[in-house]
Amino acid sequence: MPVKNPQPGDLDPIETASRDEINALQLQRLQWSLRHTYDNVEPYRRKCEEQGVHPDELKSLADLAKFPFMTKADLRDHYPFGLFAVPRNKIARLHASSGTTGKSVVVGYTRSDLDNWADLIARSLRAAGLRAGDMVHNAYGYGMFTGGLGAHYGIERAGCTVVPMSGGQTEKQVQQILDFRPDAIMVTPSYSLVIAEEFERLKIAPEDISLKVGIFGAEPWGEGMRGEIEKKLGIDAIDIYGLTEVMGPGVACECIETKDGPVIWEDHFYPEIIDPDTGAVLPDGEEGELVFTSLTKEAFPVIRYRTRDLTRLLPPTARSFRRIGKITGRSDDMLIVRGVNVFPTQIEEQILRDPRLSGNYQIVLTRDGHLDNVEVRCELQRELSGTLGRNDVENIARTLQGNIKTIIGITTKVNVMEFDTIPRTLTGKARRVIDQRPKQL
Ligand code: ADP
Repeated sequence: MPVKNPQPGDLDPIETASRDEINALQLQRLQWSLRHTYDNVEPYRRKCEEQGVHPDELKSLADLAKFPFMTKADLRDHYPFGLFAVPRNKIARLHASSGTTGKSVVVGYTRSDLDNWADLIARSLRAAGLRAGDMVHNAYGYGMFTGGLGAHYGIERAGCTVVPMSGGQTEKQVQQILDFRPDAIMVTPSYSLVIAEEFERLKIAPEDISLKVGIFGAEPWGEGMRGEIEKKLGIDAIDIYGLTEVMGPGVACECIETKDGPVIWEDHFYPEIIDPDTGAVLPDGEEGELVFTSLTKEAFPVIRYRTRDLTRLLPPTARSFRRIGKITGRSDDMLIVRGVNVFPTQIEEQILRDPRLSGNYQIVLTRDGHLDNVEVRCELQRELSGTLGRNDVENIARTLQGNIKTIIGITTKVNVMEFDTIPRTLTGKARRVIDQRPKQL
């Protein structure tokens, strides 16, 4: 049974410390992190010099606002290892996430970074009511994504039994849950519903499923979906938040006793909310773009990293740390399709590889049951339009579909149309993305 009333010994002392203690620790760690980055990450030092600021000027937490932001573009420009703050031979592990172009974003961890990550996932598991000895079915994808391995070592750190299942193979997932009787599952919320449907198909009632808790993240989900998952699997559904650039999953996690938004592990990450247009820092409670500064990371420190996630900072409840509200959208054009990050430009790049296609395209997102469907509409070049047979057109579609699957990793339906069928706006620009998926409330 998940523990809904944690005893003081269950938590790290800092989780219930006073705000003064937390602020003091944050300032001390922030000064170290900024200095460490300035001294060891040349591109960030140059940004500071251009802006005329120096780490010595950071005397209070509010002084952080004087320092330059880091963005995904910085990661892309210095691909793969240009923003690492330690020599390559001190990196214990690499992970990657999709970038805005074909190139992915690469991050690195020292031994100590991996240790902190495992500790924070273990803390997240305890927030979700799990304790040593519980069994956790880990259905996050293993590999370059941070989800699988990140969760894995945290589950071990918490003293739990890890089932390293990874993603896919729904029938096998369900069989294994039936055979091993795990207490908890870690997976994307949308895939948890696919698993739930497989249980339904087998006519297994929620009360007969051993799972008591699910820890879900990597994509936005709302209260409606929480209710559905809880009902269908007979569990408490907990929200975990994270991103590769800042660490991976476990930057923030909800507590089972309140379920009121992920608690930011503020002793390791300093959050700000900014106006995405002006960059000005906004007061707690106002909606804007979430920005993180890492406080303890050695290999890949981030200073004022712009997550592009739109949300609010909420006051502490179950712990002394602040929480994030639901992610309401993004300030860039990144799409999250079945938990995979996709930028429209990545699809565009694949379309442009085929000289028979015009550069005009549209991406239409719909939801079929619980899973996202992606249709890519593109057009033949003007001179080819009306001249090709059905087989040729189908061939073009198949090739594009294959390239998108291999390179970006998502399954799409490709529709090759005649020239000038995709509507242009008055400015001549097509609306690239039509997202018809129901909004998560
Ligand atoms: P992950 O493996 O967690 O998907 P990525 O770096 O690939 O990590 O993607 C991070 C992005 O995923 C975040 O910036 C955010 O947009 C989205 N995300 C992750 N967790 C959540 C969550 N709990 N709720 C909403 N969005 C989330």
